[in-house]
Amino acid sequence: MASVTLTVGNIEQMLEQPQWHSLLSKALETSIISTLQAKIDCREQVLDQCQKKIEHLVARINLCANDDCPNLPGSYKHGLRKCARCWVVAYCSKSCQITDWSVHKLVCKK
Ligand SMILES: [Zn+2]
Ligand SMILES: [Zn+2]
Repeated sequence: MASVTLTVGNIEQMLEQPQWHSLLSKALETSIISTLQAKIDCREQVLDQCQKKIEHLVARINLCANDDCPNLPGSYKHGLRKCARCWVVAYCSKSCQITDWSVHKLVCKK
């Protein structure tokens, strides 16, 4: 594997990749961190920040992606439904998906 200069910016970029989302949904944060450590010479400070980013992404995977969602996690009537176009984000209701679309359409991949 080619060596990379690790910054919070390129970790964020990397974590935006769909394969990371599927990995995140399966794996615990700690195993992701150790994967990162094994593959990349990860400075502690950066690692700390990337852990926060991972926590945020993990939370988003288990939560409705609508930032203004009126429902509490765990109280979703129909569980979470993934965006049918990108399968990266999930919403607890049709109205949340509609509300978030103006933001999500910028990153939604066909
Ligand atoms: Zn919602
Ligand atoms: Zn989408």
